[in-house]
Amino acid sequence: MVDLQARIKAGIRDVPDFPKDGILFKDISTLLLQPALANAILDGLAAQYRDVGIDAIAGIESRGFLFGNALALRLEKPFVLIRKAGKLPAEKITRSYELEYGVAAIEMHRDAVQPGQRVLVHDDLLATGGSAEAAALLLQDAGAHVAGFSFLVELGFLAGRQRLAPIQTDIRSLAA
Ligand code: AMP
Repeated sequence: MVDLQARIKAGIRDVPDFPKDGILFKDISTLLLQPALANAILDGLAAQYRDVGIDAIAGIESRGFLFGNALALRLEKPFVLIRKAGKLPAEKITRSYELEYGVAAIEMHRDAVQPGQRVLVHDDLLATGGSAEAAALLLQDAGAHVAGFSFLVELGFLAGRQRLAPIQTDIRSLAA
């Protein structure tokens, strides 16, 4: 039986030079075309977090919604949407963060988390850690405690872990 990490690595499609030259894009959409593998991934995530005390899971738009919401359903926890600016309709809070070129903003409904809740941040992939850091700071702005960071894949050479460590050192990925 091939282990889950190897199956994930084999199942992801690597697309060179997308969205720009020099970037090797890790396309996880191919994982979703294999329901047995997608189920094994969800089992792996659930096993990682079943016994960790978390109250809610926050997914980062858009690929963080795919397994993040499935994990929340499996663990029977609330799922919090962290979206790009301008998408959420109700009262919200916003965080801006630096990109390589320019600035981006993410938002969350103000009532999506309660102060003191222990929230797991989930995204498909950890690169520099900028997105997950901004999501975590947004959750902290709302009074939540960031209980951990969860990714399917981690690009170790970009040192995302070091960036996130001041917020929370419980950083887990299924494949590196
Ligand atoms: P970062 O904020 O640098 O950690 O980047 C992580 C976010 O950007 C995640 O939402 C990923 O989906 C996306 N991302 C960054 N680099 C890649 C890559 N090489 N392949 C696929 N997605 C990426």
